[in-house]
Amino acid sequence: VTPAAPPPPGPSAGLREWQRPLREQFPIVTGHPGLAYLDSAATAQKPKVVLDAVQTYLTGCNANAGRGTYTWANRTSALIEETRERVKAFLGDPEPDRSTVWFTSGTTEGLRTVARDWLTAELRDGDEIVVPFADHEANHLPWLEARELLAARGVRITVHPMPYQQESRDYDLEALAGLVGERTRFVAVTHVHHVYGADMNVDRVRRVVGPEVPICLDAAQSVGHLPVDVGALDVDFVVFSGHKAMALPGTGVVWARGLRGGEFRPGGWQGTPNTTGILSLRTALDWLDAAGLARIEEWTVGLGVRLTDGLSRLEAYEVLGCPLSLTAASTVQRRQGLVTFRHRAVSANDLGFILAAHGLLVRADGLCQARAGETDSSVRVSVHVYNTPEEIDRLLGVLEGLDDDRP
Ligand code: PLP
Repeated sequence: VTPAAPPPPGPSAGLREWQRPLREQFPIVTGHPGLAYLDSAATAQKPKVVLDAVQTYLTGCNANAGRGTYTWANRTSALIEETRERVKAFLGDPEPDRSTVWFTSGTTEGLRTVARDWLTAELRDGDEIVVPFADHEANHLPWLEARELLAARGVRITVHPMPYQQESRDYDLEALAGLVGERTRFVAVTHVHHVYGADMNVDRVRRVVGPEVPICLDAAQSVGHLPVDVGALDVDFVVFSGHKAMALPGTGVVWARGLRGGEFRPGGWQGTPNTTGILSLRTALDWLDAAGLARIEEWTVGLGVRLTDGLSRLEAYEVLGCPLSLTAASTVQRRQGLVTFRHRAVSANDLGFILAAHGLLVRADGLCQARAGETDSSVRVSVHVYNTPEEIDRLLGVLEGLDDDRP
């Protein structure tokens, strides 16, 4: 008798019980039973409470902030201030009285704001910064733009590419230690990589760069997916997209701590704020906290492991990032619920269309990688708490059907 194959890895039965009622709270998910949305790294779906909060506000007390003598306007101003405090609490801010929360349209605008309004004011001739060259371009181009803006004023700075370990694609902390010196004024890092799904070991970066250098964290792929604790990470800026954390599109945040990043006073005139976006963010953060971020992480990592395990059995596919063989055991910890892969013969575009025809909505191609060429023709699957092991199995079933397509 041949022994039965071991069941595919994935979330435990207990976790499934926890997840089921949460999934029910996403109208777009329950309203489309034939579709599996597997593109949450691009933007996340919204729970009903977020949609309801927006409707309640718009039909109950919609007004402009900061300029009213009547209840609705005052309530709107209060909502915005309450959301600032909510963001600080959500990030575990140890000194909320000294930090700043600035609302943006997303991570791109947030990082650009840090670059233009803070970095260009802080840096002096001869200063050095270390920034990613192989992460999302939103965490690359703004720093180069800052260098140009400074150069136009006669201030010359050196921009060092953040070093990476060749095989694991983590930041190379030893090489980083060699780069950081007396003139280092700023280091930018990414929390979770948007192509490899890897947690980029940023908790160790502080020890390498020392206590004085401001660190800016691109948390676009971590806030809303796993606990993010600014006290433990000891970073100075956290930039994220509210819309990837279940708030409305067009919402984002820059959190700046009170010490090293204390001079952060974003310039420009801010007119009418994105009130509904900001309100939706507050409700989304409440929802995420109540659901429990540690469990959300456990769930999404579990689905990612199920997918990488399935892909590793299919000949035609290559998973990008840290090779599965290299960290078979530790991959479970390191890779979040975000997996990018390619087929040896079928283009990402074709794969995307084939999967969409099966109701599987993934990201194909165009992954905004700063280092061009690396991710040509790849497909990214990214999950959230509303996804299920059955959806991953459906996806693997379709991919398996294409496994014979050798070049
Ligand atoms: N940084 C990372 C790591 C991302 O994954 C993304 C979006 O995919 C961004 C920045 C840009 O976010 P947004 O489009 O919300 O500005």
